[in-house]
Amino acid sequence: MTILIENGIILTLAGAPPAILDPGYVLIQDDRIAAIGPGDAPHDLRAAADQIMDATHMAVLPGLVNAHTHLFQTFIRGLADDKPLLPWLAAAIWPMGAAMGAEEAYLAGLLGLVENIRSGATAVIDNQYLHSDDRTDDAFCRAARDVGCRFTIARGWADHDYHPVFQETPEQVIAAMTALHDAWHGAAEGRIRIAFGPLIPWGCSAETLQRTVALARQWGVPTHLHTAETREEVQMSLDATGLRHVHWLDRLGILGPDLQLVHAVWLDDSEIERIAATGTMVIHCPVSNMYLASGIAPIVKLLRAGVPVALATDGPGSNNSQDMLETLKFAACGQKVGTLDATALLPEDVLRMACVYGAQAVTPALGPVSDRARPSSGRSEGGSVGDRPQQQGLIPGAKADLILVDLNSPRMQPVWRVPSALVYNANGGDVDTVIVDGRVLMRGKRVTCLDEAALLDECRRAAKSLLKRAGVAV
Ligand SMILES: [Zn+2]
Repeated sequence: MTILIENGIILTLAGAPPAILDPGYVLIQDDRIAAIGPGDAPHDLRAAADQIMDATHMAVLPGLVNAHTHLFQTFIRGLADDKPLLPWLAAAIWPMGAAMGAEEAYLAGLLGLVENIRSGATAVIDNQYLHSDDRTDDAFCRAARDVGCRFTIARGWADHDYHPVFQETPEQVIAAMTALHDAWHGAAEGRIRIAFGPLIPWGCSAETLQRTVALARQWGVPTHLHTAETREEVQMSLDATGLRHVHWLDRLGILGPDLQLVHAVWLDDSEIERIAATGTMVIHCPVSNMYLASGIAPIVKLLRAGVPVALATDGPGSNNSQDMLETLKFAACGQKVGTLDATALLPEDVLRMACVYGAQAVTPALGPVSDRARPSSGRSEGGSVGDRPQQQGLIPGAKADLILVDLNSPRMQPVWRVPSALVYNANGGDVDTVIVDGRVLMRGKRVTCLDEAALLDECRRAAKSLLKRAGVAV
């Protein structure tokens, strides 16, 4: 199967500076990009293509990666607005999550994934910590398989001080992770992967963290952890251990390129230095940090120190949408206002964070920055460039995960600089076409992978019944 995309404005995000082909063409063969070039497509490619997509007035770019969400919260969005983190958890997230069953989880997962696709995300990392029913991990993986996007389930856990329904013993965590690894890692032609998702430093004991990170390293999969999200949590860590979050993780020996610190809002300079020195990743959720009044993360300092920073929406409970194009604008504007420097983050910077660093979070090259982080045995995530979608931008041989964004709207025209229009003007509603692994999941703003109207009806019904059962007031 070959698809030729022609007449579009191609942002490869490859090379330095990244190329913009205006116009240009992309040829997809099966699950890979077979050719890419400026101007009109060569006649022989055109003649041989099974499908031709006209991308006139559209930007063609690598799919965005939503590097941190909690899909189950689609049913909870808007229920606990205008609260800081800890009261927000208690008011709606815990009671609704505790009452949610596996079939509701499946529907909430489908809804959240369709929303992600609609707003240009081809890959999603779901920090899934709902274990009220032992089939919920499966439910989210089934949803990802049925939708067809790239998906990492970073299975969340806590072993103390968290809501009892979400708490597990170390043995339960390891048994569940082993089952998940065997059932889903590498499933759906490799689109589904697993990661460890310890929830928060204050709910995860040092011993269990060390045990699970050792296992993750053996399997060659990453660990994904909320860190230094609020000032209050850093104070809790100082009171309990005498150390700030990153220094505590450092003492446990778990910093490294396979560790993803979500939020990283409250860091001091010595923590930034250790994150950079160990090759640890950061995942930035600007809308959530504003929504919960958590603070402004030091993203410019982290990037300047050489830290790869991916972007994410966070769960729909604290956003309340999953719009990655909107996230680009919040990321850029948040850093400008935080540093009082209008050049703090440029459109090209945030696109790179969302695509290139995002892909690194999904398929980390568990490499040589720190010997500690290298998996000692088992399956490695390493491989050719082509096995790491978008990691080097749109280049021949890479996986065909890309999106077409419609620029022909009153919100955007005239377009002088495409990266600027994508970051400062576009939102999720402008995404026209989404392709993952060479398969078209949305075309002409119509989702092709399922019946969207029927899904919305089912979700409305299921969320209403869940709300009643959970006893949460609107
Ligand atoms: Zn989160």
